[in-house]
Amino acid sequence: MKQENIADQPEITFALRFLNLNRTFRKRLFSFDREFKTQLKLKGKNQFSAFRIQHNHWRGPYKGGIRFHPQVNQEEMRTLAFLMTLKCALADIPFGGSKGGVRVDPKKLSLEQLKQLSEAYIRSIAPIIGPNVDIPAPDVNTNAQIIAWMLEEYEKFVGKPCPAILTGKPLDKGGSQGRNEATGYGGTVVLERLLQRLKLNPENLTAAVQGFGNVGYYTAHFINRLGVKIVAVSDSQGAVYVPKGLNPDKTLECKREKGFVSGCYCVGSVCDIDYGHPLKSDGLLHLDVDILIPAALEGVINKENAAQVKAKFILEMANNPVTSEAEKILKQKGKIIIPDILANSGGVIVSYFEWLQNLSQEKWTKTRVLKKLKLKLRKNFDKVYKTSQKEKLSLRQSAYIISLKRLSQAV
Ligand code: NAD
Repeated sequence: MKQENIADQPEITFALRFLNLNRTFRKRLFSFDREFKTQLKLKGKNQFSAFRIQHNHWRGPYKGGIRFHPQVNQEEMRTLAFLMTLKCALADIPFGGSKGGVRVDPKKLSLEQLKQLSEAYIRSIAPIIGPNVDIPAPDVNTNAQIIAWMLEEYEKFVGKPCPAILTGKPLDKGGSQGRNEATGYGGTVVLERLLQRLKLNPENLTAAVQGFGNVGYYTAHFINRLGVKIVAVSDSQGAVYVPKGLNPDKTLECKREKGFVSGCYCVGSVCDIDYGHPLKSDGLLHLDVDILIPAALEGVINKENAAQVKAKFILEMANNPVTSEAEKILKQKGKIIIPDILANSGGVIVSYFEWLQNLSQEKWTKTRVLKKLKLKLRKNFDKVYKTSQKEKLSLRQSAYIISLKRLSQAV
């Protein structure tokens, strides 16, 4: 799918106009500080294109994940880095935005090759990152184990311990309690707040979750605990529909039963649960549910399928899952989109907590981490919601306005 240019997104243009931000600001906002591209070589394999895009550091060091996926490309990385800048500003944490990735299907690598690729990637970007410069984290197909390999390699490069260089580490390597579940937990806090405002009881609502990785699983787990019935889930292998509702924990157990490829990717799928009806992946997006939760990749709700979306609420747990054309259609149909830069910001907020703990050599309890996250997200949601009510704007427009205002004050 052709990547949308972030500078052309109508909601961003709207927010810039609303704030009356001048041309000089716009020019600087849409310029990228550094676009690093290289080729990584693995023994016995082709070369892999690798990227690190540093967008903006007005509010602090660059911050952004590392993705291993066959569709990774420079334009995608730029969009995601740009969104990280907006997300960190909205979250009110002192970071800018970056993103990195390798164009690879990691499931086709052996465990040893995956380790070598992770090490080669971090070596290639080591000269342009640092705990006060750019702090990477996990994203699609990267996890705490991969981050641990990268940390070890980076520490060889600098010749000293440096846990604050990466977040999303395992606990014994300086990771934070609560980081694994932070994104899904955060999405649930935001959703709960919106439902409270609208006086809706979660126990009367149903949801479908596209993508059952870190973010999708934890979101399903926590919203299910809130009372929402999860009637469908999907992953890269397919989708499954369970009208009476499924148990996210049991579904994850089932997905994991067949073991792992490359040491960390499930061989099994959500489709392995034996009490669900198989669905076409796209079919999940059109189900008659209350809440649709894209938690996989960008652009999945687009002009081809937006008109068929029946859910009233779209909780954007993936980054950039709704294209601008789709957004227009959804808005006309009165749908409420909880934008990615708010909904999935729990991950980067706890990454910030992890970084703070590393710099101060502290270790916070999970209760403390999740409590701080909840308070912060409630405050952030309330600000976005208040702006949207006062100015009669969408939640995305309001989120962009708050974020761009903070950036304009920082420049
Ligand atoms: P992950 O690799 O753990 O999981 C991705 C999931 O998506 C997997 O289950 C995969 O099978 C599934 N998937 C891939 N293609 C699919 C398709 N076509 N249909 C259905 N499912 C498909 O990745 P993640 O960390 O959970 O990230 C998911 C999304 O959330 C990404 O957009 C990422 O940028 C965003 N995000 C992640 C974090 C984080 O903390 N990990 C934070 C903020 C945003």
